[in-house]
Amino acid sequence: MTVLVTGGAGYIGSHMVLELLEAGEKVIVLDNLSTGFRWAVPENVPLIEGDFGDEALVAGLLKEHDVREIIHFAAKIVVPESVADPLGYYLNNTAKARSLIQCAVEAGVKHFIFSSTAAVYGDPEHSPVSEDERLKPMSPYGRSKLMVEWMLEDVSRAHPMSHVVLRYFNVAGCDPQGRVGQSTPNATHLIKVAVQAALGFRPGMEVFGVDYPTPDGSGVRDYIQVTDLVRAHMDALVHLRKGGESTTCNVGYQRGYSVLEVIDVVKSVSGADFPVKLSPRRPGDVGSVVAANARVKSVLGWRPKHDNLREIIGQALAWERRLHNRKG
Ligand code: UDP
Repeated sequence: MTVLVTGGAGYIGSHMVLELLEAGEKVIVLDNLSTGFRWAVPENVPLIEGDFGDEALVAGLLKEHDVREIIHFAAKIVVPESVADPLGYYLNNTAKARSLIQCAVEAGVKHFIFSSTAAVYGDPEHSPVSEDERLKPMSPYGRSKLMVEWMLEDVSRAHPMSHVVLRYFNVAGCDPQGRVGQSTPNATHLIKVAVQAALGFRPGMEVFGVDYPTPDGSGVRDYIQVTDLVRAHMDALVHLRKGGESTTCNVGYQRGYSVLEVIDVVKSVSGADFPVKLSPRRPGDVGSVVAANARVKSVLGWRPKHDNLREIIGQALAWERRLHNRKG
């Protein structure tokens, strides 16, 4: 019995692989290494370099390794890129996911865990936002993920494959032991950018929008530490193995921080000051997105351990230093 992790060489997937190994699971990784790294996958884990939409490849793998569960991370995840290239996003995130799900059903895969996103809510009316909020994604990225949520709902009704959809909020931090972390070059995510500015790897940073209807005018987000996030997938696996019903859960701490608050914490934890420019809103950004997390706690029994922004930022700083030294 094997768990297939697609995108297991990427940021979140590589943390998942470590968590599965620690739990004694047998794991294989399928990754095309477009944004992932071979070094991020431990040597004792088979890494198949290929496309999760390649039906012949996937059908062969599922059979050869007796795969019973799939955790599907591999995706394109950059919102502005999805606006410029919607068809690329619908091909990769939606059409190829359909192929993967078809192979899974045909191979008798029992459980499927899917990485979705808070982007399915668009600009939510409520904060915190619950899973029952109206779904109005504002980007091709959000829509490309929502269509897969719907596919899985229909497939689980028609076939004996149950699923959990996890809607991620803003993922940050890294493995506390520093084995893997967010390594994407040119990442645009707030904590990564602020940490690079603190370490002098970039001259400064911008705050995109200080006129949102939030306490200090800057955007508010729910920053979830990556090992807490992958633990929700372990909880989902246990839930499904016990015969639990298919479900969709937010994964976040139900606590929001503004951009200006995050920058203050980065300055305080790093002890470094850096220039911060107040700039206009970034197109497509929304004011406040904070997870309601009652469901992931009650249905999956999720218990976060790293709900501490200073700790998350400390991890991000340590990882960024390590990455910089590795590049030499
Ligand atoms: N942000 C910012 N400066 C940056 C990067 C991000 O002000 O250099 C803001 C962004 O406008 C949003 C928040 O930080 O309010 C989180 O953005 P990020 O890109 O990290 O994640 P998103 O919520 O867009 O997925």
